[in-house]
Amino acid sequence: MRSPGSQTKSLVTKAFNFAQEAHKGQIRNSGEPYFNHVFETAKILAELGLGKRTVSAGLLHDVLEDAGVTDEEFEQEFGKEVFFLVQGVTKLGKIRYTGEQRHVESLRKFFVAMSKDIRVLIIKLADRLHNMRTLEHVHPEKRYRIAMETMEIYVPLAYRLGIRKIKRELEDLAFKYALTDKYEEIKQLLKERRSDKERYLEKFQKNLLKAFAGEKVKDFNTDTRMKSLYSIYRKMISKERDIDKIYDISALRINVSSISDCYKVLGIIHGIWRPLPGRIKDYIAFPKPNGYQSLHTTVFTGDGGIIEIQIRTHEMHERAEYGMASHIAYKENDSSIEDPYYSWFKQFFPQPEKEPIADEVTSEKIKRIPGWVKELVDAQSYVTLPTEFIDNLKSDFFEHRMFIFDINGEVIDLPVDSTPLDFAYEKDIDEGNHFHGAKVNGKFVALNTKLRNGDIVEIITKKTPQVTEKWLEYCKTIKAKQQIRKALEEATPQNS
Ligand code: MN
Repeated sequence: MRSPGSQTKSLVTKAFNFAQEAHKGQIRNSGEPYFNHVFETAKILAELGLGKRTVSAGLLHDVLEDAGVTDEEFEQEFGKEVFFLVQGVTKLGKIRYTGEQRHVESLRKFFVAMSKDIRVLIIKLADRLHNMRTLEHVHPEKRYRIAMETMEIYVPLAYRLGIRKIKRELEDLAFKYALTDKYEEIKQLLKERRSDKERYLEKFQKNLLKAFAGEKVKDFNTDTRMKSLYSIYRKMISKERDIDKIYDISALRINVSSISDCYKVLGIIHGIWRPLPGRIKDYIAFPKPNGYQSLHTTVFTGDGGIIEIQIRTHEMHERAEYGMASHIAYKENDSSIEDPYYSWFKQFFPQPEKEPIADEVTSEKIKRIPGWVKELVDAQSYVTLPTEFIDNLKSDFFEHRMFIFDINGEVIDLPVDSTPLDFAYEKDIDEGNHFHGAKVNGKFVALNTKLRNGDIVEIITKKTPQVTEKWLEYCKTIKAKQQIRKALEEATPQNS
């Protein structure tokens, strides 16, 4: 039984004191007390709006690994749920594996834990974000390795979770330490252009507000966002290094209260300023696979400037910035509990009023794991060599993705160079196995045709499946290859 003391003292306060005690005397590379690191990690989680169990796990995330607290002690003190979260982000013991193997096994274990509870991943991202913010204190060689790993693994994970706020910061920090020269170059180019951009934006915004008043648009807010340095760098490579051809370095965001207002605002803007052809994107009708919704357009300001505008509802904006985290925050937050530390943490992230959840939140309610996480774990369970594991991550899951439509407008995202077969298997395993042919944008294509972003694909199936060995050469994703192998195995008569 728990002592009366531990019942009255709330979770975050207890975690705070426990972590402070456990890390007493430990110092980071920066010379700061180690406790600062777990404190900042928890603060990032609180800023995302997550609840007290996740914030507590953030405070406690290093006590099993670095502070010699036993599992039993921990579970008894903080309960099963917080214990699971902390265990999920804790690396494997040093004895079982060494070097690369240990690293890969740690990652594998982490993926499995996050496939059971996605909060494990969010805590890991917060942990990594603070480590990246303080990376300058780390030895240069290790610094580069950590920056690369962040770029290859954690940035794509943050992207897929839809937590753009964290993704942007992680990406720019990784860019800074992995490609320092390029980073400095872009920073300088931007600095030279910033005042111009700001001038156009300011003037534009003024005229826009006048137009809104005339058209009676209410309950909106605007802000400007600068493109991350790394995205600018990537665009400069693809657009042959001319920064002045990138129109969305800075963008004006307009948040309104309803979807119909989004289109109304777009209409007002196009009525006054001429849009650039081909740059109007309706991600409200066609959300990106990670759920992102917004209208984008780019207009000539009339005085030589070109400005990108993003229009969305307040709710879409919150989802775009906080993604999966905002969804979990909603489920996990329990404002009925008085906790001085927790409310102190929460002030960093002003939350819209949401209905408090009275009952203790069961894990089931917050465990809405996205399908891709499960797939990631499945795909990796087939791989045995450490190098293969990382290569697979890079080539399949983390490489740039493209968005393909089926004939009903459903979006499937696939790695670049995927073929109609990959599309069929991604959509539906049965459709893959019964694959007969495919039409891309209305025309029949060869089996090995590489799909392109935005293609519309129609799969033609036949009654009897005829999976052949040759198909393995025609697909890119691990999922398709696995299913083809499986179908081939099942089709081979057993001789024993
Ligand atoms: Mn840590």
